[in-house]
Formats: sequence, structure tokens, C-alpha cells
Amino acid sequence: MTKKSNQEAIIEFNPKLPRLSASESKVLKLLVEAAKLIAPIYLEQEKQSESGINRKEIEEAGKKDPAFLSQYTVIEKVNGKLVATAYHVKYAKLLAPIAEKLEKAASITDNREFGNALRIQAKALLTGSYNEAIIAWLKNKPYILDISIGPVDHFDDQLFFRKASYQAWVGIVNATDTEKLNNYKAITLSARRKTEVPQKRVDNRDKVKAKVIDVLIFSGFMARTKFVGVNLPMDVNIVEKYGSEITLFNQPNDLRLKEQILPSFSNIFSQSFREGFSQEDLRKGNLGYIAIHELAHSYLYYRNASKNLKDLFICIYELAATVLGLRMAGPLLLEDVITSKRLESMIVAFICRSFYLIKKAKTDKPMVNRVLGSAIFINFMLENGALKQRDGMVIANFMKIFIALQELSFILEQLLSSGTRKDTETFIKKYGYLNESFERYIL
Ligand SMILES: [Zn+2]
Repeated sequence: MTKKSNQEAIIEFNPKLPRLSASESKVLKLLVEAAKLIAPIYLEQEKQSESGINRKEIEEAGKKDPAFLSQYTVIEKVNGKLVATAYHVKYAKLLAPIAEKLEKAASITDNREFGNALRIQAKALLTGSYNEAIIAWLKNKPYILDISIGPVDHFDDQLFFRKASYQAWVGIVNATDTEKLNNYKAITLSARRKTEVPQKRVDNRDKVKAKVIDVLIFSGFMARTKFVGVNLPMDVNIVEKYGSEITLFNQPNDLRLKEQILPSFSNIFSQSFREGFSQEDLRKGNLGYIAIHELAHSYLYYRNASKNLKDLFICIYELAATVLGLRMAGPLLLEDVITSKRLESMIVAFICRSFYLIKKAKTDKPMVNRVLGSAIFINFMLENGALKQRDGMVIANFMKIFIALQELSFILEQLLSSGTRKDTETFIKKYGYLNESFERYIL
């Protein structure tokens, strides 16, 4: 089903495609070619991240020249001195053929708006006008072909010191799944929620777009992280003005099911528990919890959170989205949009993912924030008796999990809305450890 190459940072998928017009097929081919060319740039970034320049040096240099702190600069040491070079200058040679492919696709497509966005994207790659491209894509009407290409800040990179990573995906919008996701969206985002300090939060709920795509290729950062869903952009100011867009990825979900969820499932749960969930339950449960995670992000744009929590922000932010998301599944259940079996499958999938990440903690550096989030979730559930350990197996009490989620989500949102880095550190110290006995018995 998939062709992978770790060295190349490319994953190709082979989804069943709907009927496309001749020009759409040509455009699609060019987009995939363009996406492939992103991988070498990402690999360059990986190499540079090992240069040994530390956070302190960069912060010091940033006081004199803000270019050092930009998400879109490469920082190198030349003759013992730090130098910041803009991405589009540093990678100009590698970017030129990518922009060419996008331009060519733009000249072929019958969809003028899509062609226009491709041109703006091509220009952004060559000149650094990234926000222009982000806004153009956010303004576009839904279209069957989908591409994201260029440097993206996922806030997730301690590795690159908050530098944007080059990434690309290309896919076809899946109409049936997109309709279902938008149904989730309509219900979860219309529910009126009291937040503690509304003035501290950016509300973009009326500007959220959502789609599910069948993926042809993941390149660069996406091939490394194998995300099943994203909600972009991350910049609160752009989100406030232009909205955000959720994208879920079908084939990477299948991949995660096979590589992470199923192995973890058979490791940590007893035979009799496992008989209650089919592979299809878990596939849908995994995509389902990621869908509501991405939707929950729309409630979590606290204006100063990233500034206040600093390096600990992303861990809390990501866990808060899952925990709040699972709570937001409540209205879906009440309105019979999902069954209780589906809600349980979502929770089981997240438990499996959490144990998988904790087990991989030693090798999976870029995912460190999510590992910490997983540990917090598991330890919090254990403390509340919502998860128990017996004979090396995990016993899940869904009713208790659902109740404990309320409390955990309250704590996490407090941290995001008005916590300090110190509060967050104290909380992480209490719950973010990797439980020894779990290592021994389960992992
Ligand atoms: Zn997220």
C-alpha cells in the first residue's frame, strides 16, 4: 500500500482515486512531483539542526537582530560568528524547480482560484512571502485537489528551535468523509461553551474549514511525523483574521493503525477486552479522536499562552486539545451522531497511542511534547482509578475516564488561559513522568 523511504523523507500512498478530468490528472502529477522535491530541503534542515548551536546563543543574537528569531531563517556559524540567512535565499537552488512545477500546474488547471493560489505559493517559496500564501489558501473555496507545500511552523520543533519545517502533502478531497467531519464540526462548534476568561481567547469558530483527504504523498516533515490530522495555521493573529483549516488524512490513519494502535492494543489490553473492538472500530476511533482533537483547537487559542508557557506550551496545548475534544464528543453522543461504542473506540485509540509514544520515547525525539502529554494523561487516569493495572494489563473504566477528563481539561485550560511557566512545570513534574512499572510490565 505504501512506499517508504526514510532516507528520502517521502511516503507515497496509493489511494483509490475518483474520476478526474485530463487536466486535473496532469495537475495532480505535477503537484506530486513538486512535493517530492521538498524532501531534500527538509533533510538539509535535519542536518543543520545537529550543528550544535544552542538556544542561548540564538536568543543573545536575536536581541541585536530579530532575523535570528524568525521562523524562516537558517542559523549557522561562519568563522565563529552566528549568521541568519532567510530560507528562500539559503535554499534558492532547491526551491526553483519546485516553484516551476507549481507555476506549470497553475497554467494547466481549469480552476482559476486554485491556479492563482498555486502562483502565490510559488512566489512565496522564492521570496519568503509566506503569509500571503497562507491567506490565499484559507480564502479558497473547497476544491477536489489539495496541496500544502513549503515551510510550516507546527510549534512542535524543539529540534529546530521553533523554526518552520519544510513539508508537503498532496491529496484528493474525500467528499463522504468530509461531509461527516463537517457534521461533527457543526455540532461541536455550535455548542455554547463557557470559557473562564473569554477576553483572553480568540474565537474563530465561524471561520473553521474542515476536510478529509485521500493522500498521495507526504514529504519532508510530514513524512517524519506522519500526522493524521493538522489544524493550520498556528499563528493566532492570522487565525483571528482569516480562520483556520482542519485537514484529516485517511491513508496515514491506516498507517498509524497498523504501526502504532494495533500493536499497542494487543500489548496492553486483555483478550476479553479486545474482543469488544474490531479493527474497523479502532480505525474509526483513531480518526474520530483526531477529528475532535483538531476541532477542539478552535476553543484553545489563548492569546498569551505560548508566550507565558514558553517551551512547555506545546505539550499542554496538544494534550488539552485531545482531552477537550473527547469531552466535546459528549454532544455528538447526545445527538446520536456517534454511538457510545464509537466514543469508547476513540478513547481506546488514544490510550493505545499514548502507550505507544511512551514506549518509543527514547528514540522518537521530535515527538517529545506528545510523549510528555501521553504520560500526563495516563498518570492522571491511573491516579483517579479510571485506568488500572492488573497482571501487566490495562483495565479501562470508560465512565470514570469520562469524569476524570472533565477535571484534567479544567486544569489544562487554566494553565493555557492564565498559568505561568512555573505552574506548568509543577504540573508536569507531578504527572509527566514515565511510569517505571509500566515500562516493566507493559512496554
Ligand atoms: Zn493538535
